[in-house]
Amino acid sequence: MRGLLLWCATNPWLAAHVPQWGFVRRAVRRFMPGEEFQDALKVAVEWKPRKIGALFTQLGENITDLAEAAAVVQHFEVVLTRAAEAHVDPVISVKPTHVGLDIDGAAALANLQRLAGAAEKAGGWLWIDMEGSAYTDATLDLYTEVRKKHQHVGLAMQAYLYRTASDVARLLELKPAIRLVKGAYAEPADRAFPAKRDVDANYLALCAFMLPELKRDRLRLVLGTHDVPLIRRITSFGDALGIEREKIEVNMLYGIQAEALVKLAKEGHTARQLIAYGPAWYGWYIRRLAERPANVLFVARQMVG
Ligand SMILES: Cc1cc2nc3c(=O)[nH]c(=O)nc-3n(C[C@H](O)[C@H](O)[C@H](O)COP(=O)(O)OP(=O)(O)OC[C@H]3O[C@@H](n4cnc5c(N)ncnc54)[C@H](O)[C@@H]3O)c2cc1C
Repeated sequence: MRGLLLWCATNPWLAAHVPQWGFVRRAVRRFMPGEEFQDALKVAVEWKPRKIGALFTQLGENITDLAEAAAVVQHFEVVLTRAAEAHVDPVISVKPTHVGLDIDGAAALANLQRLAGAAEKAGGWLWIDMEGSAYTDATLDLYTEVRKKHQHVGLAMQAYLYRTASDVARLLELKPAIRLVKGAYAEPADRAFPAKRDVDANYLALCAFMLPELKRDRLRLVLGTHDVPLIRRITSFGDALGIEREKIEVNMLYGIQAEALVKLAKEGHTARQLIAYGPAWYGWYIRRLAERPANVLFVARQMVG
């Protein structure tokens, strides 16, 4: 089922047609408060009193026109300003192929440098998403270059890839900010652990490596996962090392495990939810279904309900 859904996520015919189906549009609402930034900002303001910060992402990837990339950059600049004005942390998460990586690597780098500068100016952060493994090398290069010029820039890294342990070790000299996720794309067995239990074990092993570095302030670590038992195991290791809870930040996606996130915030973790918005939700949403195929039942219920 996961493989089939991830195939659907990249199928152009489905991408053109499925977003027009009313029952799918209704189902998407579970993970996305709306298509406009205003919808995302409203949610961020509502959750702030519960100590849940925000991380905004306008959905979109693999754009084919640099003019579109320029518009994306402008949009995110407005987001940073408007979030700061609303007293919400101006934090954004951006896919390299949304700012032109497929077309021109130098242009994508210039766009990310500009966004990192804008995020810093607003008092916030730029996070760079990690896409499929065809982009891993290029994304690490982009991160390295942006990090050389800017402090408040982080990178998502995927525990399902065999290479991530050595990539993390190499990034340490940059004093990086790492959002560790399990990984959301269809990857071949020669690049990524095929079995979920191995991905989970690698996630834990990567944290066991990074926590002592976190204690020494050699990196910033964010756990980008809804896997609460895993978060608890990592936290108890952090407690044993004497790391303050707030330094082990947890990020989840809007609409998934919200109450667990609130509980983790109450226990002292810095907590944030990634709030996605925008009309280009198809591929992103299908990856969310693939993470939990039971979600497909929820979509089916919207068809009959
Ligand atoms: C803040 C954030 C940023 C991310 N950024 C990236 C990125 O840049 N690149 C990338 O490849 N991936 C990214 N991901 C996605 C990530 O790789 C996983 O695909 C996703 O988080 C599901 O795995 P999990 O860690 O939650 O663990 P799982 O073991 O898959 O899930 C743990 C539990 O969480 C719940 N759950 C998880 N997913 C869902 C869902 N879709 N619907 C309902 N319940 C669910 C279930 O109860 C499940 O048992 C990001 C995830 C988060 C939270």
